[in-house]
Amino acid sequence: MRMPGRPAPAKRLSLFSAKTVIISAVCTLIGFSAICASVLLDLRRGEEALAHQSLENLATGVDADISRNVELYDLSLRAVASGMLLPEIDEVSKPIRQLILFDHAATAKHFGAIQVYDANGRLKVDSATLDPQAEERGDEEYFRVHRDNPDVGLYISRPTLHRGAYAIVLSRRISAPDGRFLGVAVGSIRFSYFHELFGRLSLGPDDSITVFRHDGTVIMRTPFDLDYIGKNLAHVPGVARALSEPSGWYASSGALDEIARLMVWRDGTRPLVVLAGKPWREVYRLWRMQATRIGATMLALIVLVLAATLIAAREITRRTQAEERLEELATTDALTGLKNRRKFDTTIESEWRRAMRHRTPLALLMIDADHFKSYNDNHGHQAGDQMLIGIAICITDSVKRAGDCAVRYGGEEFAVLLPGLSESDALDVAETIRRKVQSWSGDIVPSTVSVGVASVTPAHNTDWVALLQAADKALYAAKAAGRNRCIAAAVPKLPLAA
Ligand code: GH3
Ligand code: MG
Ligand code: MG
Repeated sequence: MRMPGRPAPAKRLSLFSAKTVIISAVCTLIGFSAICASVLLDLRRGEEALAHQSLENLATGVDADISRNVELYDLSLRAVASGMLLPEIDEVSKPIRQLILFDHAATAKHFGAIQVYDANGRLKVDSATLDPQAEERGDEEYFRVHRDNPDVGLYISRPTLHRGAYAIVLSRRISAPDGRFLGVAVGSIRFSYFHELFGRLSLGPDDSITVFRHDGTVIMRTPFDLDYIGKNLAHVPGVARALSEPSGWYASSGALDEIARLMVWRDGTRPLVVLAGKPWREVYRLWRMQATRIGATMLALIVLVLAATLIAAREITRRTQAEERLEELATTDALTGLKNRRKFDTTIESEWRRAMRHRTPLALLMIDADHFKSYNDNHGHQAGDQMLIGIAICITDSVKRAGDCAVRYGGEEFAVLLPGLSESDALDVAETIRRKVQSWSGDIVPSTVSVGVASVTPAHNTDWVALLQAADKALYAAKAAGRNRCIAAAVPKLPLAA
């Protein structure tokens, strides 16, 4: 009686498959890249906020200086305009009149002299001289504006060549108490004031400061170009917003010099609006350097990690394949190419459990070559081996279903597991094998096999050893009955409880 072998330990499964390693590496890289991208975006936003702040400060500073000077000069013009209304002003001597009108007038190197023109546009008084030469300004824009509109207040002209120097002309209407137009008080602020003001600032080469009049006319700009001065940019959407909203920013596409800039303004309600601009490439210069450095490092890391992962994955695949090959070798019979006893033990264990779960029969054939010892003795061991190979082929030819398992059980014995087959079906398979062996070997040296058949639907908590013993017993019965036959075990009488 044969003792059935215990099942071999289950095949060791690799903890990490190549696919798992690649997927985890790619997920990790995506995660790190996302963190990097978010940090870079934050840095970029930070640079933008910094540029906004510095441009706001710049615009505020320039605006404050210009406004202070314009207000100062306007105070002088107001004083002159109200002085001209004094009844005695035409009667006092010229030096006294100069004193009354201009004693408190603001003077600075960039402020032009103040003149008074009468209602016909003729020069009446000039702060620069007691005896001004005859001058006619009736056609000037500022003169017409004040003559036709009593409520203009301080009027700032377009940039113009005024008395030999580029300047903006500031003017106020002189109105009689009854509102009659009596003339204008006129002064000017020269471009040199703006040049000096901008020169004091430390600006980048393409940073810009543009001073607009409230109708969108460019009064002054740095970087300076005479062509830009006097241009009206009210049609540019960003400029239009700057002239109507108290503060804000816009992305300019370079209306004057084709350089795209971040433009910021602080107080769009004043007579002169200051816009400070910085080229976007300067705004993002530091950020771009950081992004390039971090991006390049990240890219190098990604390439490195991916390369290492691919190498590791290839190694894992190679090892897995080697393990599979070893496993295959360990479970295959070298002579016949069938599975071996080791494989049989694990397969019968799992098939038994499956049949138990599904309440289906499990059939087993035990096949033994008849009088094989004498076959060996008569024809030699080599021929015996060939005969064993032939029997194996006959078995595999007859057992074709996916779940069937044919093994060389040992020596000249074979076993076939037939899941789902009843005793009579299993007997048919056994008979097919027996006949095949007989007819195949008949041509060379007649040879036969005996087959013991058993089929059981396992009850709960039973062991497959009983099935093996039943098939084995049936095989002995076949041998005893004269060999070259198939006999089924009387299974119902078998004690199946484990
Ligand atoms: P029975 O009909 O009762 O089975 O008689 P038998 O001679 O086949 O049985 P026995 O167990 O006495 O002899 C089995 C023989 O099978 C003995 C051994 O030489 C032979 N054998 C076992 N394994 C191999 C093998 O791998 N190659 C060869 N050529 N012969 C083998
Ligand atoms: Mg034997
Ligand atoms: Mg034998």
